[in-house]
Amino acid sequence: MNLRDKNILVVGLARTGVSVARFLAGRGALVTVTDMKSEAALADHMAALAGIPIKWELGRHSDATFTGSDLVVVSPGVPMDLPQLESARQAGIEIISEIELASRFITAPLVAITGTNGKTTTTTLAGEIFKANGYRTFVGGNIGNPLIELIESGEPIDQVVAEISSFQLEWITSFHPQVAALLNLSEDHLDRYASFQEYIDAKLRIFENQTQEDFAVINRDDTLVWKYAQNLKAQLFPFSRKQELDEGIFHTDDVICFRHNGHEEYFPTAAIRLEGVHNLENIMAALACALLLGCRADETFETVQSFEALHHRMEFVRQVRGVNYYEDSKATNVGSVEKALESFDNITLIAGGKDKGGSYAPLEQLVRERVRHLVLIGEAADRMAAELGQLTDTHRAASLEEAVKMAAAITKQGGTVLMSPACSSFDMFRDYEERAQRFIAAVKAL
Ligand code: ADP
Repeated sequence: MNLRDKNILVVGLARTGVSVARFLAGRGALVTVTDMKSEAALADHMAALAGIPIKWELGRHSDATFTGSDLVVVSPGVPMDLPQLESARQAGIEIISEIELASRFITAPLVAITGTNGKTTTTTLAGEIFKANGYRTFVGGNIGNPLIELIESGEPIDQVVAEISSFQLEWITSFHPQVAALLNLSEDHLDRYASFQEYIDAKLRIFENQTQEDFAVINRDDTLVWKYAQNLKAQLFPFSRKQELDEGIFHTDDVICFRHNGHEEYFPTAAIRLEGVHNLENIMAALACALLLGCRADETFETVQSFEALHHRMEFVRQVRGVNYYEDSKATNVGSVEKALESFDNITLIAGGKDKGGSYAPLEQLVRERVRHLVLIGEAADRMAAELGQLTDTHRAASLEEAVKMAAAITKQGGTVLMSPACSSFDMFRDYEERAQRFIAAVKAL
């Protein structure tokens, strides 16, 4: 793909936009960057591009800038229905996402992992497994470094393992992973998509360019995932915690069995540190991706055994007066909170934040059975109280700190205080990490 002297427009200047602009300029393209945010709001990102020749269109998007480009590269945060993107499309301008751009230059085998939850855990683990097997591995995408940074660095690489979000898949045309995994599907990002179906359709695009030579690693136990998997071109490689499979990877009697083309590998689960049934699913998916691409069982399993949970995903903080405090700030949708609630009894749940437009109803039964007290914060508090408040003892708090004090006062010895918000953090915090740190500080202050 020749980029020299091409007029290329980068839409959206956050982490990915910066990397794309730098890469394109380095290849001799004439780069314009546009973003609805003001110059002041983008100062840090602009500083990262200091000294690179770039034309700016900030605080607005103009049709002419879009239609006058040879190519438009869209960052993941940009809504698909932006009117200027539609104008460019009608004018016949090629529009792609950053992962599409990067994938046109990637020569190493590509594992791509998506799903509503578990992407980061599974991608990180799969990356560690490939490294332990001696592959020079780039791990990135929706976590860590955008894929385009791999191309920019020019580093020799044997394997790419990428976490992929639905947003990144919106503007692909030829993105083609040799192994693509879909971990699960539940409602999320309904503040960005018109319907759950639209979100599902975006996720399924991860399989769109695969052929019969490739593998689709899919969750056999997730009814929706299984339903959509029936139409894929790639070879299905399911994982299941619930049933034995003739071809696939499954868990039974404290052993994970990998079964492929009549060949089997067994991994005892007793020695694994990662806890929770959801992590068993993540482990099986990571194992499948690695073993299908030639990783050896011994090296692979040593890595799985020593792998520990990532921060802010159901992480133990501290015990105070016989009450355990857990922080699950990364639980930004209902599907992840379900898994957290399944993991404890006698729970005081701190939840709420920025509402994403989905239903909280899937939590009803777990709240009734396991949540003794519900403490709600943030913009979503009203809706959550309306949908779940009558099921248990429910309170409101004006801040996270107040919520922690309230939870400490009402939770009896032997109980668990769990912050698992089911919402994003942007109403009260910079991001989920700040929310986590504020919770940890409040718990330490008790
Ligand atoms: P993602 O990158 O998809 O957001 P993470 O690994 O960061 O996934 O985990 C996000 C949240 O989802 C955490 O609260 C975690 O405990 C929960 N989680 C992790 N794996 C799964 C899974 N397979 N199914 C449901 N929830 C999960």
